Formats: sequence, structure tokens, C-alpha cells
Amino acid sequence: MTRLVLLGPPGAGKGTQAKLLSERLGVPAISTGDIFRANVAQGTELGVAAKEYLDAGKYVPDSVTNEMVRDRLAQPDAAEGFILDGYPRTADQVRELEDMLAAAGAKLDRVLEITADTDELVRRLTRRASIEGRSDDTEDVIRTRQEVYAEQTAPLVALYSERGLLRSVDGLGEVPEVTARLLGALASDAG
Ligand code: ADP
Repeated sequence: MTRLVLLGPPGAGKGTQAKLLSERLGVPAISTGDIFRANVAQGTELGVAAKEYLDAGKYVPDSVTNEMVRDRLAQPDAAEGFILDGYPRTADQVRELEDMLAAAGAKLDRVLEITADTDELVRRLTRRASIEGRSDDTEDVIRTRQEVYAEQTAPLVALYSERGLLRSVDGLGEVPEVTARLLGALASDAG
């Protein structure tokens, strides 16, 4: 049960939980946002292509993102499992991921959705802005990211639910509490 996707709006805590689950489960956490930011910082070709989208809070085009994830999942450390944080985020990315895994004779084991209400999300992101100084944590861009999530990514919840892969977990509370809920959702078979 180690090929996992974390789903949830910006600020839900995917990145934090992905790292903790990675330690517990012994598979890499793969954050598309982190990979994009690292490439922007290093000024790579990928970073140059992605920067304007990141700064605006919009999704990087699927063609760019899919290729990046394909390369990352082909690395040996992801052969036995992974925790994807921030991918897939569009219906096209869902199909691409399925193809990538099928080509390797694998499939997703579970999709974990972390939920939180909008007020809490905005509060967390605004606080993070003052700590980390991320260029997309400004008020306007935070709002855009929430809208883009609602339009393009929220529909993935229903899609994965229909496939019986989805488990939803309350993202409110202390970090270790949420981790425990996620591990519990992984252990349970019933939806
Ligand atoms: P958050 O979930 O808090 O918005 P992320 O670090 O996951 O932050 O993503 C930051 C930005 O990286 C997104 O706003 C988007 O521009 C880009 N990005 C990350 N993942 C994807 C993806 N799967 N498809 C397209 N763009 C992405």
C-alpha cells in the first residue's frame, strides 16, 4: 500500500504530511511544487518555463508537468512506492499518471484527501508567507490558487471516490494527529 497521492487545497498540509508519511512508510515524498521551486531557484530551463505560472498561482501546463513527473517516477527510489504531493491536479494528469504506472505494471493504491475550511487555509497560508516568503503566498495569489483548486482539482475527489481509491481525512488539529488519521485511513479497507 505505498503508491499514494495526497489531495487537498493549498494550505491543507500536504507537504508537511507527505514528509512525515515518507519517513513512516519508507518511500519518497515527491512534491511537484518543490521540484518547480528548486528549478526556478537554479534557473534551469524548466524553472524558466514554470516561473510565470508559479508567481501567478496558476497551474504549469500539463505537458511540462507530466514530463517532469514521468522523469521523477522513473528514478529507482520510486520503484517500490511514492507519495505524490501536488500531482495529479487536473483530469489530464490523472490519465497520464495512470499511463505511467500501467507502463511499469503498477497502479495507485490510495488517494488521501486532506480537508480544511477556507478560512483556516487562508490563515495558514498568510502565516506561512511571513515565515517562508514564498512568492505565491500573497493575498491575491492565495485567492487565485484556491479558485484554481476548486475549478480544476476538486473534481478529482469525485473521480477517485468513484474508483474506490479515496479516503478523506480532517486536516484540522495538531500535525501528529493528522498524520495518525492518515495512517489510519491507509490501514482501513472500508471507504
Ligand atoms: P500549494 O498546494 O500550497 O499551492 P504547491 O507547492 O503544491 O503549493 O504548488 C505551487 C505551484 O506549483 C502551483 O501553484 C503551480 O503553479 C505549480 N504546480 C505544482 N504542482 C502542479 C501540477 N500538478 N500541475 C501544474 N502546476 C503545478
